Amino acid sequence: MKPTHIEHIGIAVSNLEESIEYYEKVLGLSCYAIEEVADQKVKTAFFKVGDTKIELLESTDPEGPIGKFVEKKGPGIHHIAFAMPDVEKALSDAEKNGVQLIDKSPRAGAEGLKIGFLHPKSTGGVLTEFCSD
Ligand code: ZN
Repeated sequence: MKPTHIEHIGIAVSNLEESIEYYEKVLGLSCYAIEEVADQKVKTAFFKVGDTKIELLESTDPEGPIGKFVEKKGPGIHHIAFAMPDVEKALSDAEKNGVQLIDKSPRAGAEGLKIGFLHPKSTGGVLTEFCSD
């Protein structure tokens, strides 16, 4: 199974309002959704760039995954998300290929998508997400 496109690029930010301003003023994009994902302890903001989205992630808790990431590495690119026809199958195929999974089965992400993460140890250091409608 192969991805149909890059669904989004996840970018960790320390201040959502300031980052939204950058993407709107400098790049001329418009933020079309802001959503809190309590499960992942983040507030997200979305922009469309063709078929791909930019997902800004601001931590709502210093102990959450984005809080720890920003603390360790500073703000920047956090993950890349591939649109897959079937996340469940894509995850199990990856596992059969020896990839270490963060999510053995899909869970609910922002925008009502089904998502699952692959461990960056198995992907050349890139936190990789699969998602589908
Ligand atoms: Zn994502």
